[in-house]
Amino acid sequence: MLKGIAASSGVVLAKAYKLEQPVLDIVKKEVDPETEIVHFHECLEKTKKDILVIQEKAKGRLSDEELAIFDAHLMVCDDPEFTGQIEEMIKADNVNADYATNEVGNMFITMFESMDDAYFRERAADIKDVTFRIKCHLLGKVLPDLSLISEETVIVAHDLTPSDTAQLNKQFTKGFATAIGGRTSHSAIMARSLEIPAVVGINGLLDEVKHGDFIILDALDGIVIINPNETEIHDYSKKAERFHELKMSLKVLKDADSVTSDGHHVELVGNIGNPNDADSVLNNGGEGVGLYRTEFLYMDSQALPTEEEQFVAYKKVLERMGKRPVVVRTLDIGGDKELPYLPFPHEMNPFLGYRAIRLCLDRKDIFRTQVRALLRASVFGRLCIMFPMIATLDEFRAAKTFVLEEKAVLKSEGVDVSNEIQIGMMVEIPAAAVLADQFAKEADFLSIGTNDLIQYSMAADRMSEKVAYLYQPFNPAILRLIKMTIDGGHSQGKWVGMCGEMAGEELAVPVLLGLGLDEFSMSASSILQARKMVRSLSYAEMKKLAAEALTKSTYDEVVELIKKSLNK
Ligand code: PEP
Ligand code: MG
Repeated sequence: MLKGIAASSGVVLAKAYKLEQPVLDIVKKEVDPETEIVHFHECLEKTKKDILVIQEKAKGRLSDEELAIFDAHLMVCDDPEFTGQIEEMIKADNVNADYATNEVGNMFITMFESMDDAYFRERAADIKDVTFRIKCHLLGKVLPDLSLISEETVIVAHDLTPSDTAQLNKQFTKGFATAIGGRTSHSAIMARSLEIPAVVGINGLLDEVKHGDFIILDALDGIVIINPNETEIHDYSKKAERFHELKMSLKVLKDADSVTSDGHHVELVGNIGNPNDADSVLNNGGEGVGLYRTEFLYMDSQALPTEEEQFVAYKKVLERMGKRPVVVRTLDIGGDKELPYLPFPHEMNPFLGYRAIRLCLDRKDIFRTQVRALLRASVFGRLCIMFPMIATLDEFRAAKTFVLEEKAVLKSEGVDVSNEIQIGMMVEIPAAAVLADQFAKEADFLSIGTNDLIQYSMAADRMSEKVAYLYQPFNPAILRLIKMTIDGGHSQGKWVGMCGEMAGEELAVPVLLGLGLDEFSMSASSILQARKMVRSLSYAEMKKLAAEALTKSTYDEVVELIKKSLNK
């Protein structure tokens, strides 16, 4: 049994699919060339089949130019120059096919890499890719690819990149387990928005779990059981059933009001990572989108997404949400979110470096494309634009001015832009929380990003499982920063939301309610549970609870106080 951090709730029992680059051990051996050549051809066919499946699955997601890479890979498999030389070597030297493939492959790779023509140099990458795939088949190793999964599995990996997570096929991916990460790492956030159970930050995971092992993933208690016995299978199947029933029972609250027992209204909205997630928000009774993380659009592309591509995505969400508000966050790239096609300067502390609004204000070309797409889409719904990682009022002013200038340009081009757009900001840097009243004079709304606010206030990397104990939403210092932000916003008559993961945590809802938070934005799968909670609480009581929490001195004292008040 392995222990990790429960990141997206649920219980699943399925086979493990290890997403790990295999290590190939290639040694020269003497073999019977006849059978070896048959084996080589079988593996060549398997390789071609893989490539065709991957290409088919990528249709619609990749551009024609990108899809053509797979054609180039198939051409390598069918090239008699390449396969013929491998066969000849097997025959002439009586050597094993993986050895011959490796030798011939390397020879071609070196040859192409040394050519002057860029086109030929790129072919070296194709040959590398294809020979690796053939060698894996020859050695019976699995070369993992998310699009090749065709049975129910739990993905086991060191970490999943946001684009891996975005590619997960929900039909077969029943859950995932990763060796690193915490509740607010991006793979965890994506798992919640896809409603896929996940346990992250599991020490020793890759050493213990083998590809194909049957495992139980208990993402309620953060546990993985490898090759369980009959009793465990029985008990956890029951636990999975109970969880499913609980989820079903919450469905009756889908159209209910988010109102406390004494009549105080709040808004419960969803966080999304791509336009299709808007459906999960609506299916779970969300009253809007409180955070659309647009960086996933950039991370899923092979180049900066064009204005038109972005316009289509934003319009889709706005139309889907109709009259409900949609808060779209401008590009929040950098830190742990990199773009393969946009080189970042090397920095010692990328989380404290060139990222998010800092990059956008420096790269106005990139920012302009996004802002224009957003403004054009604004007429299709209720758009709120939100800037990430604002540290100073100067940054906020510069970003807001830029939006207003682009709006004027579009209008002069005869393009329709809504006059109802709200322009707000995230409060996720402590300096902004402390100065919230000043920001609120110029921002239409504030949204607290606790994932980063906690990371920066506690000086604890949110990706590190070693310091995960410092991710303390209930530390009184954090509660005071949240209170300053809410009070600061309200002092200027502005609404204040929260789109960090804390907003959806069961124990946090009562205190946040008491502190006067107006909008709670969370993973779609948490909305109904939060609504049930809000409806069961009294605002007057929660105000008292929040006031008392602010007088405490440690995380544990606050948690104890909340549990006591909820009779837990
Ligand atoms: C946050 O920091 O709380 C937040 C919502 O943004 P992200 O998790 O994308 O950094
Ligand atoms: Mg953030």
